[in-house]
Amino acid sequence: MSIYAEIIINSDANEVDRPFTYRIPDELVDKINVGFRVKVPFGKSNRGVEGFVFSILTEEIDFKYKIKSIITICDDYPILTNDDIKLIKFLKSKYLCKFIDAIRLLIPVGIMKGLKNKKKSVIFTAQQLDEEKLKKENYINLYKFVSLNEGVFTKSQLIKEKGFSLYSLNKLIEKGFLKSEEKVVFRYNIRHYNDDIPKVLTQEQSNALDIILKGKELKYLIKGVTGSGKTEVYMNLVQETLKSGKSCIVLVPEISLTPQMIERFKGRFGDDIALFHSRLSEGERFDEWYRIKQGKAKLVIGARSAIFLPMQDLGLIIIDEEHETTYKSEQNPKYHTIEVGEFISDIKACKLILGSATPSVESYYKSLKGKYKLIEMTKRVNKRNMPKFDIIDMREELKANNLSLFSRKLYSSIEQNLKDKNQIILFLNRRGFSTFISCRSCGYVFKCPECDVSMTYHKNGYLICHYCGRAEKVSKTCPKCKSKYVKFFGAGTERVELEVKRYFPKANVLRMDVDTTRHKNSHESIYNAFKNGEGDILIGTQMIAKGLDFPNVTLVGVLAADISMNIPDYRSGERTFQIITQVAGRAGRGEKEGNVIVQTYNPNHYSLEYARKEDYDSLFKEEITLRNIMNNPPFAKILLINVSSKFEEKLKKFMYNLEEKLEELITGMNLTLLGPVPCIITKLKDNYRWQIIIKGNISDDFSKKVKDRVYLLNKSVYNEIRVSIDINPNNMT
Ligand code: ADP
Ligand code: ZN
Ligand code: ZN
Repeated sequence: MSIYAEIIINSDANEVDRPFTYRIPDELVDKINVGFRVKVPFGKSNRGVEGFVFSILTEEIDFKYKIKSIITICDDYPILTNDDIKLIKFLKSKYLCKFIDAIRLLIPVGIMKGLKNKKKSVIFTAQQLDEEKLKKENYINLYKFVSLNEGVFTKSQLIKEKGFSLYSLNKLIEKGFLKSEEKVVFRYNIRHYNDDIPKVLTQEQSNALDIILKGKELKYLIKGVTGSGKTEVYMNLVQETLKSGKSCIVLVPEISLTPQMIERFKGRFGDDIALFHSRLSEGERFDEWYRIKQGKAKLVIGARSAIFLPMQDLGLIIIDEEHETTYKSEQNPKYHTIEVGEFISDIKACKLILGSATPSVESYYKSLKGKYKLIEMTKRVNKRNMPKFDIIDMREELKANNLSLFSRKLYSSIEQNLKDKNQIILFLNRRGFSTFISCRSCGYVFKCPECDVSMTYHKNGYLICHYCGRAEKVSKTCPKCKSKYVKFFGAGTERVELEVKRYFPKANVLRMDVDTTRHKNSHESIYNAFKNGEGDILIGTQMIAKGLDFPNVTLVGVLAADISMNIPDYRSGERTFQIITQVAGRAGRGEKEGNVIVQTYNPNHYSLEYARKEDYDSLFKEEITLRNIMNNPPFAKILLINVSSKFEEKLKKFMYNLEEKLEELITGMNLTLLGPVPCIITKLKDNYRWQIIIKGNISDDFSKKVKDRVYLLNKSVYNEIRVSIDINPNNMT
């Protein structure tokens, strides 16, 4: 018989991050089980707080202290399953978070706030419209619309969004042809899309499908060049999985950023797909979660957090563009979606499919080691050629006295394409912070000799390596060619837009970046505008690099490849290759031939050269060798301890103290400690920021020890100094 329940309390305090034992009162014995949310008395005051049942104990125990009883049960269904609890434990030990942080990943905020389903008055038909009596076209149209969309729209939506007149609506209700009724409405995307018809698969596609459907392995990596038809393979996999009664999760980098993907999936599988991404409201999130929990939606397309949705009988997880950095969460718990996917795949025995044209070095390495089954797709479905690819040496432009953002070649190509009424994409990679210093004349970049990453410029006139802390004074002349063109690097999309408008005043220019896409649907509307030919030139950041398929685009210009080449990160070469390959894939998707022009001060950089040749394998070889030499992932783990405070001196003191403690901890182990150093962004929201890195073969147990040391030291200065720990962080800014 269930006697006690071990409960995780819904509280942020570090001290209560463990299960608490409560007695289950007799009247709740039949109701309470693992995963239920309950209310319990907590603390000295015994105030009622919520908690989650993690386990049930069935034997009397002689406790040395008084055991309190559960007050009540909160829902009539368990919020968490047994598998969920396994996952929560995994998240806690892998990412050093609290139980409650992990729980919050698995349930929508709305649950904690007591959100319930929403009821609204929506319009239905009541009786057949007598078209003879009410001949007015207005009435007939409105009646027809409602009968096609019964119970979908409210009065005000019909008037405000669909443009029907209030007068007609009231008239039809008054005459008894329409009625208004209370209904639970789900706040999700109800827009209908055009049918997407299954295609006859190519040899490579059916081969891939076969391997996965018949394979005994659980995990696969599809490495398929852009346009090889991976999405069609995903859709077939989903189809087969749904047919067998199981459910599917399809993850894309950030769903609101790929309207095209939604279009294809909704068109193929109907409207009963759950969509889950960061721009849903709390209510929408709750509704989607609830719908899935009840087994009403068996297919979800979402951004990374959708991996935690309560799918019933999960059979398939697809992670598209698996190399994308957005799969790593930047907030606590700082999980990586692929690692979570692997864990779920193991405990539920469901298949995990990773797909990319440019797999991450880590994933490809795993496939070579047999951890994923590798499937390659090397041919483009439409047999179209890769666009023509030019790398432009910007040092030559300087010599020719061209100081604008556009090389002569790019300028004349834009001009020609505008004349031919083709569309153009101009791409500016702004990821990271462009605070590196380089020589415009010879292309020299100031790098740390120890760490092989570019050094970051600081206002005090010093260049600092943010891995090891090395500092050098900035020199005014280039150490290599002695020129005086030693400068900061950086230009924003706004500046590009201004310059485009100045040189090409007649062109219609659209811009897509974080600033122009703040609004919920702005991404889709810019996307649609460009697709419908309302813009000649689309300027954008990495947002426009992904997945977009515009047949009319014949020219893609990459304005400054150097920005991604020189972020101070061991992955900068890999990332440049990925992003250039992706944007290049946007050109020449239609009938006309495409052109890619990449501008750089470092035209011989391997990442550009291999991108031009579409040579992933060489890129991988180069990268994996470097990673091995420098002892970076996948050969080692990186543990980044980030500390911030308003008080600079206290922070420094804390960091040197911490260094001492950590040095002690790692003695005798084959680990490297780097730092303490200021972060690349030295100050954020009035807080100074410093970091320490530990690198090497780090186990989860060891990470835990580090965490305990850090928090122990932090305990007394908790109010003034904040710490966070990230394992294999995305970036080190
Ligand atoms: P990827 O995801 O590998 O970049 P997509 O799945 O987007 O490739 O396919 C590229 C284009 O080819 C799309 O327009 C798609 O509709 C089309 N396509 C894919 N598979 C087929 C097929 N078997 N027959 C015809 N067209 C196809
Ligand atoms: Zn120089
Ligand atoms: Zn260094």
